[in-house]
Amino acid sequence: MTMASPRKISDAMKRVQEQMIALRARLSKVKHKVAVMSGKGGVGKSFVAASLAVAISGMGRKVGILDADFHGPSVPKLLGLQGMRMLSGPPGLFPVMGPAGVKVVSIDFMLPEEETPVIWRGPLKASALRELLSMVEWGNLDYLIVDLPPGTGDEPLSVAQLITDLSGAVIVTIPSDLSRVVVKKAVSFARQLNIRVIGVIENMSYFVCPKCGTKYRIFGEGAGRRIAEEMDVDFLGEIPIDPRITDCNDKGRPFLL
Ligand code: ADP
Repeated sequence: MTMASPRKISDAMKRVQEQMIALRARLSKVKHKVAVMSGKGGVGKSFVAASLAVAISGMGRKVGILDADFHGPSVPKLLGLQGMRMLSGPPGLFPVMGPAGVKVVSIDFMLPEEETPVIWRGPLKASALRELLSMVEWGNLDYLIVDLPPGTGDEPLSVAQLITDLSGAVIVTIPSDLSRVVVKKAVSFARQLNIRVIGVIENMSYFVCPKCGTKYRIFGEGAGRRIAEEMDVDFLGEIPIDPRITDCNDKGRPFLL
């Protein structure tokens, strides 16, 4: 194994420090930074994050969304921005302008092909995101929605360490008892990092049969409310399973619009 010279190490540390200073300066123009978290993947975290961004923007606020989910950067797809590139200019990199005027930044905009898998080791991902955020010129924003990687491991941790002044976290779950256990871990994780938990959103709560109107609780019942009670956080609401949501997501058209 070759060892890096002390000179190289100190240069690298200086670069990290400079990036962190630039990152903080750029993010200081964002009033509220809200993380969207989940205990595990596939619960609709990115859909909820993109919907929050579009909804808040529709209320007349300036909104950005940061897709920090490296493995499944799905925000560009959900917002119909696949294949787009970020433009660069003298102040830095500009977010891609999405539907409802939402400014979008994703690692996906930096990758060559849709199929390129992101096989990076943890530290490399954190440094790529640090570098990206040190260059992105968001401008003045009221809200930045941060779609965090799922789980409670190194990846969400490293993002939370880059954006240290998160205003709070919204936790997304599905109603199953299995996800109740992992989502409780996500709430504890946020608390350990001193991130205020804004509340729990239960996605895929039920399905209403379009023919007979019967409500089916496919994934179980009430896990979101139970988590909220047990962890003493607010329950923010239920979102049904709706094939129109899946269809809009697949076509890159925000359901709320
Ligand atoms: P995550 O970010 O948690 O991995 P996604 O937001 O990518 O999850 O959603 C996973 C899949 O579920 C996507 O295909 C999405 O279109 C679909 N989906 C999410 N929420 C709903 C819903 N309420 N009704 C129907 N389909 C949904």
